[in-house]
Amino acid sequence: MKPLVEAIAVSKHYAVQTGGFMRRQTIPLRAVDGVNLRIHPGETLGLVGESGCGKSTLGRMLIRLVPTTDGTILFDGTDITSLGPKELRATRRGMQIVFQDPFGALNPRMTVEDIIMEPLLIHGARANAETRTKVTDMLGLVGLPARARERFPHEFSGGQRQRVGIARALVLHPRFVVCDEPVSALDVSVQAQIVNLLADLQAELGLTYLFIAHDLGVVKHISTRVAVMYLGKVVEIADKRALYDAPLHPYTQALIAAVPVAHPALRAQARQQRQRIAGDIPSALHPPSGCRFHTRCPHVMPVCKTQEPAVTEPVPGHQVACHLIG
Ligand code: SF4
Repeated sequence: MKPLVEAIAVSKHYAVQTGGFMRRQTIPLRAVDGVNLRIHPGETLGLVGESGCGKSTLGRMLIRLVPTTDGTILFDGTDITSLGPKELRATRRGMQIVFQDPFGALNPRMTVEDIIMEPLLIHGARANAETRTKVTDMLGLVGLPARARERFPHEFSGGQRQRVGIARALVLHPRFVVCDEPVSALDVSVQAQIVNLLADLQAELGLTYLFIAHDLGVVKHISTRVAVMYLGKVVEIADKRALYDAPLHPYTQALIAAVPVAHPALRAQARQQRQRIAGDIPSALHPPSGCRFHTRCPHVMPVCKTQEPAVTEPVPGHQVACHLIG
């Protein structure tokens, strides 16, 4: 099947100044480094990794909110990395984002109606009765009453604000939506409601999602496939079932062990496995040589310290970058 979104060897490097006055030097921070990704129409690709691994940067690059340093991004076959401002604006209608922080993402001085209507006005609509009807329709779609139009963001709970953020993202009828940790800032009790709402909207509107989260527990319900990122690299991609039942990369195995376990008998085993991934994620300014996970990997071998593992596909559709699999 032809992908709706495709990233080909995309990288994002930021120039960072380090050192004191006499020793100042500029070095690249490799936030995303040579990533290949395909997202098919109608699917949800879960993108998981620890804070600072580059997943949000990658998500924003896919809709060109962040420009790429290298590589190509195709949206429905069009290379969006080389589009001029006018063409990009037209293409942007089809690609939207739901932000993590429903408190910070909405302008506190605008009414809900103005917040949801703004993208329509930017794309040429007029603030007339027809446009206001679209806003009311969107509110109904995300489970908010029509009277919410006249209210301000601070009058809503976190979950309701995220519903407003979703309505704003969907009002232009996009085909592809980057959901950038849309439930991380919400109470656990509300998280499932928002994930279920996004799943319902996907089924109703035929949406394609990139769903970013920092743990595998959150994306399990909604994802079709899951990609795991570590220090700017995608280290494993597979169908959801294959990834959760038979993860191949030691980092994915550690993330799965970190997902809270309900059954007491399995909890002790999970805790034991969790202890294996000690230490913090290294700085992207000075990524480890060879396999970037080698400083924390329980299976590290001499080759891991010098050679970057190539991406292999030991089972059709299941890709992994690890010297243990090759
Ligand atoms: Fe561990 Fe080596 Fe595989 Fe990296 S390549 S995950 S260090 S075994």
